[in-house]
Amino acid sequence: MLIDSHIHIGRKHECEKTIKNSKYKDIYKIYSCINPKTIRDTDIFLRDVDNFFAIPLFFCETNIEKANDDLIKRVENNPKAIPILLMCKNQNLNNLIFLLNYNILKEHFTLHNPKDISNRNETYDYLNSQEGFLLLHTLSNSTYQHVMHLRKEYPKMKIIVAHLGRNGSCDYDFTTDMIDKLYSDENIYTDISTIRNPDLIRYAFKKFGSSRILYGSDFPFEKNPGIREKDYIQPAIKANLKDDEYDNLFFRNAEEIIRLTKTRKEGNDVKDEMER
Ligand SMILES: [Zn+2]
Repeated sequence: MLIDSHIHIGRKHECEKTIKNSKYKDIYKIYSCINPKTIRDTDIFLRDVDNFFAIPLFFCETNIEKANDDLIKRVENNPKAIPILLMCKNQNLNNLIFLLNYNILKEHFTLHNPKDISNRNETYDYLNSQEGFLLLHTLSNSTYQHVMHLRKEYPKMKIIVAHLGRNGSCDYDFTTDMIDKLYSDENIYTDISTIRNPDLIRYAFKKFGSSRILYGSDFPFEKNPGIREKDYIQPAIKANLKDDEYDNLFFRNAEEIIRLTKTRKEGNDVKDEMER
């Protein structure tokens, strides 16, 4: 069983165009670490997993509403997909995520300045009231401060810090320091997407324990076309964890989040109970 908690879904042609023409292409790393040919393999890639958390593929010029709509179209009828829409102010997100069945969203700091959160308050409020999840990056100390602020103001909203909280260059010291700052808060989870250093994965397990760490590939952020899940999971395999820890990492923790984020539609609960 394998659940990938971090896959981006986008269109090859649009990405190709954006990567080529963007005025940000020399500023932000995301433009250079993606190959449109990899995106073409998405459907093949998805065959490897039992479930996946689907996030819109974005760039600075991404129209968030359109990226969300595209994602919805792609995953609506895919029983494997747990949609994670991007936060934005012009869509009725609370309504959308309710209809999509999962109280989970992503905030991305290429698109959202952590200092300018006023127009996101309503959505944080909603996630807080539903005890939902927010996926985000730390990457720098200012976003770390943002996480602290959210934990204080929205105590029931859980946060998944992507990439073990690493910075852009994935420094060992920065990442372990971030893990040290975050692990004691039971409402903070993390994922190992893009982490290549097995020592960092081991360190995260030592601190967080094994029940709040998710596996994620961050597909298609990889230059080589033809990449499969078996390639992405190598750093985790090299971390030499126990069988039980691998089970938690590769599916149990994600299953728990799927269960926790499921929206409480009328009749849904009863049906779920009966199926159990
Ligand atoms: Zn990502």
